Amino acid sequence: MRNLELYVHIPFCIKKCLYCDFLSFPADEDTQNAYVEALLSEIAYYGTKCRDYCVSTVYIGGGTPSWLRETQTERIMEALRRSFSIVRDAEVTIECNPGTVTDRMFFVYRRAGINRVSIGLQSADDAQLKMLGRIHTFDQFLKTFDLARRNGFDNINVDIMNSLPGQTAESFYQTLQQVLRLKPEHISAYSLIIEKGTPFYELYKFDAVKQQAGLQPVELPTENEVYRMTKLTEQLLAEAGYMHYEISNFAKPGFACMHNVGYWRRENYLGFGLGAASLMENIRYTNIRELYPYIEQTKHLREGLWQNENEELPATNLHASAERITRKAQIEEFMFLGLRMMEGISRADFEKAFGVSIEAVYAEVLAKLQGENLLVKRAGRIFLTERGQDVSNYVLAQFLL
Ligand code: SF4
Repeated sequence: MRNLELYVHIPFCIKKCLYCDFLSFPADEDTQNAYVEALLSEIAYYGTKCRDYCVSTVYIGGGTPSWLRETQTERIMEALRRSFSIVRDAEVTIECNPGTVTDRMFFVYRRAGINRVSIGLQSADDAQLKMLGRIHTFDQFLKTFDLARRNGFDNINVDIMNSLPGQTAESFYQTLQQVLRLKPEHISAYSLIIEKGTPFYELYKFDAVKQQAGLQPVELPTENEVYRMTKLTEQLLAEAGYMHYEISNFAKPGFACMHNVGYWRRENYLGFGLGAASLMENIRYTNIRELYPYIEQTKHLREGLWQNENEELPATNLHASAERITRKAQIEEFMFLGLRMMEGISRADFEKAFGVSIEAVYAEVLAKLQGENLLVKRAGRIFLTERGQDVSNYVLAQFLL
């Protein structure tokens, strides 16, 4: 049986955060219920097509999955179990926003087989949370974390964010300390990105350009300050026993997020829901992004062909696009996804996947990056040095063919 990961997208949020460009929006209960029915149809449909796969991870993300009624979440889990062979010790994650989960909800999540919770905190400073347009306070986060623990969740991730307007390494230090006090098993620490189409873009676009150019921004932290925050994260988390296993992710031993690791290793994954992406045997699919057409199409799910530039690909009426990943693009993805992880990539895996040695494709790039002390080859693996991690965007871009 081949390995498969499942992702379920819940595109609903009580209120849009000011920096967010994810596919998420408010919706009333009737709409949420209609969406869940659509998801159940999609799950049942694909279950019949994936008999040769066994599922190692499930990730219910969003949006705010914890805004759904817990009984709806339970129905989604039941449908997944009915339609797919999910291994007994599968990692099953749900994303939660502070203030949206009750004791009963965590209880039902556990009963439904969910064994990992990912809580979006971002900052321990209420003023910063307000500035980001988040719906919760730090205190609400603490209550949510405590409820998850009391309900037996022993694998919890906390999302935090640096590079916020007005943030300094000192204020970020407070967030790190507050989170570490709780001893979560996993911490994701991302930098704020000013994305087009968000209210933050209008507010900070010129600042972001200055920041990237190494000039003095007005409200965003300077590049140097962001670097200090990154180093502070690495140092404090290492001291607290976390392994830095991917550029932005830290885990206690044995608690790396297997769902994301699979994604970086280019495992097959199937995404359900609005705008969800899938990678199945090197074909990348994306679902349609409009809510009502999505709901309608799931009522008449059928196979068809996606007319690409060069060929016709198997698809369904839910797909907005289908694309066969060329060998060249597979090699590029193998490198720049694999090198995001601190363990890097295995030379043997490269040869097995592409039938040639890594040097046959990247001899010059590897020599150059090694010469610049950005990359190391050791014990059959290739990985970034600490300096390489600091300039990972530059290093990863070198692997574009
Ligand atoms: S909670 Fe997450 S998905 Fe929802 S608006 Fe905020 S950042 Fe976006």
